[in-house]
Amino acid sequence: MARAPDVVDLFVAQVRHSPRPIRQPVTKIGGAPVLFGPIEPPACTSCRMPMAFLAQVRIDGPLPLSARWSMAYIFMCAGAYDSSWALICENDLPDAGANRVVLQAYSDSPAPGPGATYPDYAVRLERAIEPRVHWTPEDLDVSQRKQLWEGTKVGGVPAWLRSSRRPACPACGGAMIFAAQFADRLEPSPDGAEKYLGFGEGGRGYLFLCAEECGPGGAAFLYQC
Ligand SMILES: [Zn+2]
Ligand SMILES: [Zn+2]
Repeated sequence: MARAPDVVDLFVAQVRHSPRPIRQPVTKIGGAPVLFGPIEPPACTSCRMPMAFLAQVRIDGPLPLSARWSMAYIFMCAGAYDSSWALICENDLPDAGANRVVLQAYSDSPAPGPGATYPDYAVRLERAIEPRVHWTPEDLDVSQRKQLWEGTKVGGVPAWLRSSRRPACPACGGAMIFAAQFADRLEPSPDGAEKYLGFGEGGRGYLFLCAEECGPGGAAFLYQC
């Protein structure tokens, strides 16, 4: 009987501040999204403020995560507080309306979209492999844990900070596959200021895609810290 391979392919990312805006439809963090077509800028359903653009990830290659879509665009509300300083926007959850992932198919006329909250960061990808493990950090033995890339990556296995959490597709309710992970901390920009994506200190963000590729909303994002 055929056995699933016990390793999975991934690309580990080197993330570097870019002195210029990145206007190509490549995997990148920050800046303005480079869109294959127009989109309605997403607003947070809790505080109604526009969400910040976090990152875009090519999902058609070099790792073929999707046959239908070429790019996943991730947006997240910075989070608003009520009068008693409680956070009203649960931007860490995949289904609370405080973050959003939009998928687009390839077009040959990509154009930068509106709004850059973060500076542009270039992403250089390098091929690697990881053990096929899907448990909580406590369930992994030390040697397995050491083989999981804990920084930003495309593909592979989510390096969970807390219990493993696979969301259901927000569009069709179906199963999802893991697509990418993001480290919270970014290299300081030339002004010396520390930059964080807002996942809580040392947090990690996780991108999932609908296994059935059901539609442009068939993707989810969450973070742990
Ligand atoms: Zn909000
Ligand atoms: Zn779906």
